[in-house]
Amino acid sequence: MHLKIAILPGDYIGPEVMAVAVPVLEAVLKRSGHTVEHSTHPVGGAGIDLHGKALPDSTLEACRQADAILFGSVGGPKWEKLPPQEQPERASLLPLRKHFRLYANVRPGLLLKNLIDTSPIRPERIPQGVDMVCIRELTGGLYFGAKSTKPCENGDIEAIDTMVYRKSEIERITDVAIATARGRRKHITLVDKANVLETSVLWRKVVSERIKTTAPDITLATMYIDNAAMQLVLRPAQFDVVLTENMFGDILSDEMAVICGSLGMMASASLGMDINRHGKGYGLYEPSGGTAPDIAGQDKANPCAQVLSVALMLRHSFGLESEAKAIENAVEKTIADGVRTADIAGGGKAVGTQAMGQAILARL
Ligand code: NAD
Repeated sequence: MHLKIAILPGDYIGPEVMAVAVPVLEAVLKRSGHTVEHSTHPVGGAGIDLHGKALPDSTLEACRQADAILFGSVGGPKWEKLPPQEQPERASLLPLRKHFRLYANVRPGLLLKNLIDTSPIRPERIPQGVDMVCIRELTGGLYFGAKSTKPCENGDIEAIDTMVYRKSEIERITDVAIATARGRRKHITLVDKANVLETSVLWRKVVSERIKTTAPDITLATMYIDNAAMQLVLRPAQFDVVLTENMFGDILSDEMAVICGSLGMMASASLGMDINRHGKGYGLYEPSGGTAPDIAGQDKANPCAQVLSVALMLRHSFGLESEAKAIENAVEKTIADGVRTADIAGGGKAVGTQAMGQAILARL
C-alpha cells in the first residue's frame, strides 16, 4: 500500500512531538513493506506567520490530496491578541472539521497499568488501569444549532442556543461506535439526558434500534450525563465504548483524559464521511492536548500522544491493524521499561522528548 499523508505540526510543542512521530510512521511501514509519501505544511500560528492565515490555501489543498491528516496542535500566547475568529484553533481546526465533514471524534482513554500512579483516581479503584474509548458526535448539537442574542421588551437580554439532531446523524455515529466496540469488549454505554431532552429521547430510540437490527453481538447500556460524570470517577473500569452527543462528549472526554493521567499520552481521531483512495475513512489524527507553551522548546514534551495518533491513523484510515498495534505495544513496552518523560515520571528520573522517541523506535 502507498500512503499519502499531510503533516501539519502546528505550534510550540507541535513540531517537537511530530519530529518523533514521523520516524515511527516510516519505520513501522518500512518493516511491513508499505510506502509512505508525506509533506509538511504550516497550520495555526505558523500559518498566520507564514501566510497570514491559520489555514493557508496551500495547506488545505495538500490535505485534499492526501489520504489522511496527521495534526500536531495549534495556538499559544503569541497569537492570543488576535480577534476570536482569527485565533489559530478556531480558524484552522474548525474549518478543517467542516471541510472534511469530520463527524466522529474517537478518543481512547487508556491508562496503562504501569502509569496508575499518574491518575488522580486512587489506585485501588483502578487496579487494572483504564481502557475505554469515547465516541463523540462532532458536527451537530448545541454547538452548531441556530444561535442568537437579542434584547427583550422589558430591557432584559435573551440568548438562545439550539440543540438539533437528525436520525441519520445518530445512525452514522452509532455505526462508528459499533465498529469500535467490535474490536474491543463489545459494550456500548450511551450517555444522554433522556429524562429532559427531546434530542436525547431520539438518540436512545435510534441507537437501541440500530444495535438491535445491525449489531446483536453488542450490549448497550444507557446512562444520564450527570450520573456518567460521576461513574467515570467512581468506577471507570465499567466503561468500554462511551457514545454521546457533541457537548456531553466535549466535557466527558476531558474528564476521561484527566483520569488517564497525562494529556501527553492521549491521542484522538476525527473521522469523516469521505472515503480515501484506499476505500477507508478520511480522518484527522492529533494529540488530545494543546501546544503546551510552558514546556515548548525544552525537549520536555511527551511525544506518546502524537505517536499514538499515528497508530489511530493506520488503523482507521488504512486498516493497518497490526502496524497500529505494533506502535501501541512499543509505547507500552517503553513505559513498562521505565523510560518516561517528566509528565509521567512521577518525580523520578525523566528523559527528554527525543530520547523517548528513540526508546519507542528501538522497541518497535
Ligand atoms: P495544553 O494541553 O497545551 O497544556 C495543559 C498542560 O498539559 C500544560 O501543563 C502542558 O505542559 C501539559 N501538556 C500538554 N501536552 C503535553 C505533552 N505532550 N507532554 C507533556 N505535558 C503536556 O493546554 P493549554 O495550556 O490550555 O493550551 C495551550 C495552547 O494550546 C492554547 O493556545 C490552546 O488554545 C491550544 N490548544 C490547542 C489544541 C489543539 O490544537 N487541538 C487543543 C487544546 C489547546
